Amino acid sequence: MQLYNSLTRQKEEFKTAEPGKVKMYTCGPTVYHFAHIGNLRTYMMEDVLENYLTYSGYDVMRIMNITDVGHLTSDGDTGDDKMLKGAKREHKTVMEIAKFYTDAFFSDCEKLCIKKPEYIQPATGCIPEYINMISVLLEKGYAYEAGGNVYFDTSKLDQYYRFHDFREEDLEVGVREGVEGDANKRNKADFVLWFTKSKFDDQELKWESPWGYGYPGWHIECSCISMKFAGETLDLHCGGIDNVFPHHTNEIAQSEAYLGHAWCPHWFHVLHLNDETGKMSKSKGEFLTVSLLEEKGFSPLAYRFFCLQSHYRKTLVFSWDNMKNAQTAYDKLLAKIEAMLDNNDTVDDAKKAELLAAFTAAMDNDLNTAQAVTVLYDILKSDANAATKLACIADMDKVLSLRLIENAKALAENHAAPEIPAEVLELVDQRKEARKAKDFAKADALRDQITALGWQIRETRQGTEITKL
Ligand code: AMP
Ligand code: ZN
Repeated sequence: MQLYNSLTRQKEEFKTAEPGKVKMYTCGPTVYHFAHIGNLRTYMMEDVLENYLTYSGYDVMRIMNITDVGHLTSDGDTGDDKMLKGAKREHKTVMEIAKFYTDAFFSDCEKLCIKKPEYIQPATGCIPEYINMISVLLEKGYAYEAGGNVYFDTSKLDQYYRFHDFREEDLEVGVREGVEGDANKRNKADFVLWFTKSKFDDQELKWESPWGYGYPGWHIECSCISMKFAGETLDLHCGGIDNVFPHHTNEIAQSEAYLGHAWCPHWFHVLHLNDETGKMSKSKGEFLTVSLLEEKGFSPLAYRFFCLQSHYRKTLVFSWDNMKNAQTAYDKLLAKIEAMLDNNDTVDDAKKAELLAAFTAAMDNDLNTAQAVTVLYDILKSDANAATKLACIADMDKVLSLRLIENAKALAENHAAPEIPAEVLELVDQRKEARKAKDFAKADALRDQITALGWQIRETRQGTEITKL
């Protein structure tokens, strides 16, 4: 498979240290608020990558951190603490916020068919590992204590900037911003490994350390969590494009200084999803979440389809019109598949292999999901029989995860179900009202009336189910 590597800035054959095994690390969410659908684009493309590696025969070990401490709004060492900000906003403790938004994140992922990584580690669970790594960095002379904090000394490295996608002057701006107000740093690019002197007096989470009572900087967690599960090397490290600097640059600096050898040869970055104003933000009033998509009547998988229609290395612009188009296209796709479900064909294996070759060619070319979607339409238009087309779609969906066949079957079942008479629907509404008002006697009487008309009603966690008796 040819996969773009941000470190070498070219497409190259993806290789692993151990044949057939991939050790993959993906930077996880900062759980101070809901994920926006931009964040979820990144996780979705990482999910597609994991699926395709598995489809190609690899055994994939995937690790993800959950950032519940240390991430400041600037991504560097300035700004507010994101978790603290979230806790203040909701008058809760940091750990309550972390639990709530971690659950919300995985619930969004489930709706978008993004699998849970095999290893998930909250950052607050690895304090001894950070203390160990920082102690080694101090011993080896790669770190120093100043003003109560511990800093990584970037001047000790032959090469600190490892991704050259940016112009040096752009990096300089970021660095200058990062150093504002911190006279303790010996070099502009140095970054905090451990804070004890923080401007956040009300910092809730602090731990004892050899350097005083404090908390870790943001970057150290990903190095330590990766090594906790994958050992001294990784095959593949992923994240959104904004993670390139400073986060991934700092991860490489501290990991390689600690290990004394190279750490991860391949870096995969997903470009941003922007809204029409140019940038996704969580501070704007109505920010784009999976729940908002649902409230507006869209299915989360139509959003997944929208993302797959574009290449992960292109910036993608979200608009409600684009979303409407994606929903229409997704619904049409399901309808086409539904129409093929009832067939007596047998799968033509040779034809199936020929059609799927176009799919693997697209995916082997730097995970070109946009081309893979075109192949999906080509297969539907091809002269293959229905069973062969369905077999191809089932295979492709192991990677794309659009639940195409399952949802087409659900559609068919819906179409086969008899229409519920208006009179029954009216009684169902009245019963909902009665239950809301806790008038259970009335609710029971309404159920009896519904039964008398030949229908059965069941309230489930997913909603109300009405079936013919
Ligand atoms: P955070 O929760 O802020 O740590 O970000 C989680 C992930 O989302 C990181 O991998 C970011 O690089 C990524 N990300 C942030 N903003 C966007 C965006 N607008 N589009 C796509 N990915 C993003
Ligand atoms: Zn990370």
